[in-house]
Amino acid sequence: MSREQIPHFDDLHLSTPDVGQIEQTIGALSAQLAASDDLEGTDALVRRWDDEVRSVESWRYLVEARFHQNTNDERLKAEKKTLDEIWPQIVGFHTRVKRALLQHRLRPELEARFGKTAFDLWDLDSRSYADEIQSDLARESELVSEYVQLTGSARFVFRGEDHNLSSIVRYQTDPDRGTRRGAETARWQWFADNSETIDRIFDDLVQVRNRMALTLGLRSFIELGYLRMQRVDFTQRDVERLRSQVVNQLVPLCSQIRRDQAARLGLEAIAYWDEQVLDAAPAPRPQGPPEWICDRASEGFDELLPELGALFGLMRERGYLDLVARDGKAPGGFCISVPSVGMPFIFSNFNGTAQDIVVLVHEMGHAFQYFQSRDLPLYDYLWPTMESAEITSHGLEYLTLPLATRLFGSGAERYQRQHVTQNLLFIPYGVAVDEFQHLVYANPAATPAERHQMWREVERRYLPSRAFGELAHPAAGRFWHMQRHIFAVPFYYIDYVLALTAAKQIWARSLDDSRDAVGRYLAVARQGGRLPFQQLLRSAGLQSPFEGDCLQMIVDATRRTLNLDPI
Ligand SMILES: [Zn+2]
Repeated sequence: MSREQIPHFDDLHLSTPDVGQIEQTIGALSAQLAASDDLEGTDALVRRWDDEVRSVESWRYLVEARFHQNTNDERLKAEKKTLDEIWPQIVGFHTRVKRALLQHRLRPELEARFGKTAFDLWDLDSRSYADEIQSDLARESELVSEYVQLTGSARFVFRGEDHNLSSIVRYQTDPDRGTRRGAETARWQWFADNSETIDRIFDDLVQVRNRMALTLGLRSFIELGYLRMQRVDFTQRDVERLRSQVVNQLVPLCSQIRRDQAARLGLEAIAYWDEQVLDAAPAPRPQGPPEWICDRASEGFDELLPELGALFGLMRERGYLDLVARDGKAPGGFCISVPSVGMPFIFSNFNGTAQDIVVLVHEMGHAFQYFQSRDLPLYDYLWPTMESAEITSHGLEYLTLPLATRLFGSGAERYQRQHVTQNLLFIPYGVAVDEFQHLVYANPAATPAERHQMWREVERRYLPSRAFGELAHPAAGRFWHMQRHIFAVPFYYIDYVLALTAAKQIWARSLDDSRDAVGRYLAVARQGGRLPFQQLLRSAGLQSPFEGDCLQMIVDATRRTLNLDPI
């Protein structure tokens, strides 16, 4: 599709698919596939099926995007409800095709043509689905929507001004300690007021997820979670090894960073409301409004990689960016794609802080990877699995650190240090979120109070410096109530950690040789989804976080950049 032919995002209106029609089309295709015995004919059928997948996925993504853009619009809510209801059936139809391909007599020839990875992915997909779990899948989506709607429509007053869960976050970097503390008190009061509802939604989610796992003949939802995240080449044992590396190598470094931070701020110790303020000077903020930020970003992208700048320009021109926070918009940031037009779309909630830049660049990394991969032959290759997809997003955050001079003026160097530091501090938190979910799904009968205890246990292990003071709600083991992924995409969270270990390797290399780092980044982005995680890393000359001294290289580069002495 040429540039002129790409419709404006606001003009995209894909009609709700007719489930009966899809059943017929996909049913006929799987029957033809099963009977087909010549390679070219089978190849043509695979491509026809793939077109169908791209078309229905485009509709799904568009419904999700529009719903997040306005969670109060009744028509969009109804469309999202339809999606939640019919999607499991659609997954069922496509799983039949995947099973037909897995059992196909020409499978070796098809693997040679399309790559083995797709077959490995379809194998996991087929094990994570059975028609018997359709109604549970629909119920699960309904519960996730309930959580998104509840948090998206949150309203509360802080110092006479109305706030939502996105806008209140800007005070986390306020130079005045009392303001930060007050804003956190207001934010957590909303969670305290909604605590029972949130615990009830989560309990319902745990029950429905556990039931699906048992129906599929699996031991617990943990196994189903791994299948759903399409983990082809690593297991729970690998993740456990990474956890102990984090406890041994990163947690002590993070505690040292917190002590250093307390000294800079002239405090005895860091309280939760101080965590985002790394030194005493005012937080670096982008020095202009959203349009100005986009102009500066555009220049920086052009300079780093001309293809990236061109894509950003195209997305701006055709409306594929919705960046600024407003009422009714769901919190968070994400990038989706509309494969029928070959375009990515970025959603975020700019609120005037440095975080706006992190999110924009992060999502732009996803957008760039997708755009590089949009013409690959199979839908499953357009995005890699998430731990790999997050390498291109976090990787771009690091490669665009020089962009800070355009955006933050004299605050640029501090922004860069802060980014390196915050990302490092994130890793133990990410591991905590992941281990918490393992505990929750290994004990599905636990009560909400027992789940709060589980959270406190992981918090003590990975975040020993965290101190909530009088913030009673998070202090009682309920911090995770604000972590959307735990509700919406179980077991996703560790993927950020895995990807960060790769992105930080790219960063460590960029300190000595920026061209080499960009080359490795492009090597990852251009693979799309054709390789599983560890193979992808090896193909770009990066180390797997499950082996050897991967974290040591990151610890060393961080100490060097932050001038921290070895403990
Ligand atoms: Zn991401």
